[in-house]
Amino acid sequence: MLETALKVLNIIEDNSYEAYIVGGFVRDYVMGIKSNDVDITTNARPKDLIKIFPNANIDNEMYGSVTVYLNNIRFEITTYRDDGNYLDNRHPDTINYVNDLKTDLKRRDFTINTICMDKALNIVDLLSCRSDIDKKIIKTVINPLTSFKIDSLRILRAIRFATTLDFELAKEVKEAIIQSKYLLKDLSINRKKEELDKIFSSPNIEKGIMLIKELGLIDVLFLENINKVIPCSQVIGIWMMLEVDEIYPFTRNELNLMKDIRNAIKNNPLDYTTLYYYDLYPCIVAGEIIGISKKEIMDNYNSMPIHKRGDIVVDSYDLIDYLNIEDGPIMSKLWKELELNILNLEVSNTKEDLLNLAKKIYTSINLVKEECNETETTG
Ligand code: ATP
Ligand code: MG
Repeated sequence: MLETALKVLNIIEDNSYEAYIVGGFVRDYVMGIKSNDVDITTNARPKDLIKIFPNANIDNEMYGSVTVYLNNIRFEITTYRDDGNYLDNRHPDTINYVNDLKTDLKRRDFTINTICMDKALNIVDLLSCRSDIDKKIIKTVINPLTSFKIDSLRILRAIRFATTLDFELAKEVKEAIIQSKYLLKDLSINRKKEELDKIFSSPNIEKGIMLIKELGLIDVLFLENINKVIPCSQVIGIWMMLEVDEIYPFTRNELNLMKDIRNAIKNNPLDYTTLYYYDLYPCIVAGEIIGISKKEIMDNYNSMPIHKRGDIVVDSYDLIDYLNIEDGPIMSKLWKELELNILNLEVSNTKEDLLNLAKKIYTSINLVKEECNETETTG
């Protein structure tokens, strides 16, 4: 990724502009950790970048950044700019492109995110912030109150970096967060969720939770159940415990997963029936939360007689033929009973045993029906 990023810098510079890698990648590089994206900053304007990279995409021209793919790697290239005027504590209403790197660095969120790297791998630290990385401290580039007023997302980014990097928030940053937390009311719920997702998926999540509590953000983030959260390696398990299904934006799939995890906890994730009806993954997450190892759950899963209806050796035609019945609502009752009997090891998954059992079940369903009819006519 670095090699390709340097290629991007070289291409831009060959067109007589400047370009640097900036922010997260360089921060992680000097700390010796792997980064998952590279941000590039340049004095070339979006219209120039489009000429240089024929496949470039202005994904957000309002915010002055261009996306370029090289060797299938995505790079976000942002033109030097200052903050401009802000309307809603979040978005600049105009972009002021500027010509020098230093001005651009001053509009960035934290000092640890202002370090750059040039095409020869030299670290370029115009604001002398490298020591903050070594000291593992998070400071805003400008006065923190002003910084958070300009963009309240930075409050959550501060907590996110403190959590994922295991850094400390500078005292004045903490104080400014406490004073500015009301600004988060106007931050979109999607942006809140994106940052919280990163905090909650960090192995250092406990620090994030502690900061959310310490800085008084529970109410403004709707995290009233945060004290009930038990550490869980799967972020969906954390969201499940927070019980904010109706507040934060989840996909249908995530909502179903949270329901299945809750049901698995209620019904014991080690049981064959629970594993069968709610599936393996929700049971593993449920197990982690209530203290059952993944291995125990996997072992049980692997020893199940069936994992899905298709594993049952008889099919609907066999049942219809053998019982001499028509397809209809009775079939789903029959299937359910057969499944439960197999999973509870009351019957073996063999054709003969299953057809015999089906007959018994069918007869008893009919008997119950007849009794009901009798009470209806006599009563
Ligand atoms: P990571 O990519 O690991 O999440 P990052 O620091 O690279 O962390 P990005 O969101 O990729 O974060 O942003 C790239 C850079 O843009 C940051 O390092 C920072 O310099 C700047 N930046 C991002 N968001 C903001 C913001 N809300 N306010 C000011 N500067 C920002
Ligand atoms: Mg980044």
